Amino acid sequence: YILKCVFFPLIGFEYSRSGNPTRNCLERAVAALDGAQYCMALASGLAATLTITHLFKAGDGILCMNDVYGGTNRYFRKIAAEVGFDVSFADLSKIVEIKAALKPNTKMVWIETPTNPTMKVVDIQGCADIVHEYNKDIIVVVDNTFMSAYFQRPLALGADICMYSATKYMNGHSDVVMGLISLNRDDLYERLKFLQNGLGAVPSPFDCYMCNRGLKTLHLRMKQHFKNAMAAAQFLEADPRVDRVIFPGLPSHPQHELTKRQCTGCPGMITFYIKGKLEHASTFLSNLKLFALAESLGGYESLAEHPASMTHASVSEDERKELGISDMLVRLSVGLEDEEDIIADLDQALAAAVSIPENILPENK
Ligand SMILES: *Cc1c(COP(=O)(O)O)cnc(C)c1O
Repeated sequence: YILKCVFFPLIGFEYSRSGNPTRNCLERAVAALDGAQYCMALASGLAATLTITHLFKAGDGILCMNDVYGGTNRYFRKIAAEVGFDVSFADLSKIVEIKAALKPNTKMVWIETPTNPTMKVVDIQGCADIVHEYNKDIIVVVDNTFMSAYFQRPLALGADICMYSATKYMNGHSDVVMGLISLNRDDLYERLKFLQNGLGAVPSPFDCYMCNRGLKTLHLRMKQHFKNAMAAAQFLEADPRVDRVIFPGLPSHPQHELTKRQCTGCPGMITFYIKGKLEHASTFLSNLKLFALAESLGGYESLAEHPASMTHASVSEDERKELGISDMLVRLSVGLEDEEDIIADLDQALAAAVSIPENILPENK
């Protein structure tokens, strides 16, 4: 024992892949935010998804929400399915679809809410109850990246695992790539720690330090994202140049009541359909000045993107059509700038989009 104390003064930190004091500090902070027994920080959101999937083996069934982050969709379809997982997708915001999609081999149900980019809201408690009633051993995972721990607590709503791409709101400064997993079950935690160490999906201590710093303003940032997004969503909804706005904080959102029950606020994510054709969407995007054209989200700065050609380009055209990811769909990640500046930028870019002369537009497809 004395020898161990001399050589390893911080017991449990003999090799940084297995554990690191800075990482531990972040993990304890996130566990407290999520009301969880345990938290693990990982190399990225996708590293968290990969590590969780390794809890299962080839032949096991994975049921995933049909409208998820493009990288999650690609991992399940093009990597997990290739090595023998039985991957299926369903609209988990519909009770009948959940019931119909559960199978005897289902081992994991993957929820993302609100979804990306069509902002469907899944009833976490309702879905977890149905799944656990069918088979209590099925692991229900919620990707809580959009809401952050400040607006939504999936573990309290019956989920077994809450995961994040901390790259987004949890860190919030667009300067770290990281994943987080929160959970309460001892057995799952032991197994996931083993898998993380065995797979090597670990973050650097410096990134953990940065993320811990980002968390210190999570409450302030999320409140400001919500306020700014609400103002932008109301502006867009009232604007005749816009077809439809999808924002769970608006009463027009089909699951607004569920959102109010399940979450304490909404992040800066807004999806809307601009009137016209692809050219209107692209002119709008190229004329934005305050919003940067970029795929990420959840940072201090406002970002805009075109899912059909950017984040969701790896989703097949048929599937995009089914999900409503049309050429006119624009996704915004509203940042922390002044509300008036955000709205003025949207306004001038919409003006540029409607000014395209009709005769240079190609025929509607
Ligand atoms: C970005 C993102 C991921 C993937 O996380 P990375 O940190 O980029 O690996 C997963 N889910 C959602 C909802 C995301 O936005």
